Amino acid sequence: MVANNQPVNKHQRQKLEAVLESLSKDDRDRLFAEARKQRSDAQKRRNTKARESVDGERLGRGKRRPDPLIDWVLRLVERDFAHKREDAADDRELVEGLVVGLTRRRATVLPAGCDGADLSKHILCRLSAELAGRQQDGIAVGDRVLFTTLDVPADAVEHEVVSVLPRESKLARPDSHDTNQERVVAANVDVVVIVVSVVSPPLHPRLIDRYLVAIEWGDCTPMIAVNKADLLPAGELDEALKVLEPYEQAGIPIAVCAAVPGDDSSVRVDGLRELLAGKTCAFVGHSGVGKSSLANALDESLGIATKTVRETDHRGRHTTTASAMHFIEPGIRVIDTPGVRFFGLAEMSPDELRWLFPEFERFVHSCKFNDCAHDHEPGCAVKAAVGSGEIALARYDTYLRLLEELRTGGKPKDVSERIRSDFDPSDFDPDVFDTNG
Ligand code: GDP
Ligand code: ZN
Repeated sequence: MVANNQPVNKHQRQKLEAVLESLSKDDRDRLFAEARKQRSDAQKRRNTKARESVDGERLGRGKRRPDPLIDWVLRLVERDFAHKREDAADDRELVEGLVVGLTRRRATVLPAGCDGADLSKHILCRLSAELAGRQQDGIAVGDRVLFTTLDVPADAVEHEVVSVLPRESKLARPDSHDTNQERVVAANVDVVVIVVSVVSPPLHPRLIDRYLVAIEWGDCTPMIAVNKADLLPAGELDEALKVLEPYEQAGIPIAVCAAVPGDDSSVRVDGLRELLAGKTCAFVGHSGVGKSSLANALDESLGIATKTVRETDHRGRHTTTASAMHFIEPGIRVIDTPGVRFFGLAEMSPDELRWLFPEFERFVHSCKFNDCAHDHEPGCAVKAAVGSGEIALARYDTYLRLLEELRTGGKPKDVSERIRSDFDPSDFDPDVFDTNG
């Protein structure tokens, strides 16, 4: 794995992942920071030609980055730490699994290679003391974990999650009490579906932009689902969808849906189902746009509580919105956690923001200055591309706005706060987050 981004074999990778997991938070933070920098430098070095093929790959297969951050991190683990653990192999037998459910002290784990729809394969595990202590960022639905059998069952639980393997991607938001602390609300998400509705509530492209930045930051891939298409006549619908052209231009898949179809039964959720086939996804978006309805429309047996139900039974939704992964045909895994509904930006520097607008990447290498912020600098290729229409003006505007916010306020909280301010405040229940990523 060290040379030329060659993928490691599975065994070697697991070993490096276990070493990484055993490191102190400081060491891990240092490795991630260095890996981020290395990757960003490599991105800068990459020439335009290479970028084009990468973009092509993104459109074709939905996954944009050829080498995820974690690969860079593991290379550093091998460089700095691998030798220390040669003889420290744990003598307990460890099995790999996937977290499909989570409460304060317990995780439901699906052993690797098992069919998630088969509930008899789900194993209830307690969390190791260390994991239970740092549940905010330590473990989330979607995490790959190592678990073991307990010598003595505790409260009828026979297994324990010992460690969490490094994540490929995550959906995180700052803690509402301490913005330097992040809460991971879902892990290893292939696609984050930003749900918007054409009307009620009306479509806000700026909100989409904020989600996009947060999604990029966690190394996830975005998609847009435009719901409630049944509420507009065809002509008006086409008109309303025009505001989404910049996203289409940026290569983001868009599915037009009607989770609760009216007279026009031609638009339902088939397009969305096709785009999500074989992927792990999470639905984010404004309250009331139809996130729950969409998941239910994909699979009628899910029975996720929708707005109308929740309004009549406010308390009851604590039990109906436990953190879980749902398995839907064809091979779709939907992560539904209360925290997903409120996710926002974690810590980010203005410099990092530059890498979170994928459609800029093709041009940044032609900017006169290496560290061009595409703001006031002369010879900026990004600005030129906005001028020639190759980058949408609306997206560039959003970039400048967010840049300004990060520079002046400096507090990422401001940005996430604005995402959150678009939510229905009655939907915000801190208790839910305490029990759950
Ligand atoms: P969430 O808060 O994003 O999960 O939204 P819900 O799924 O709870 O839906 C909010 C309301 O919009 C409910 O009353 C749904 O019945 C309604 N709704 C959801 N999707 C559609 C749709 O495609 N068309 C129409 N007409 N109503 C919808
Ligand atoms: Zn520039």
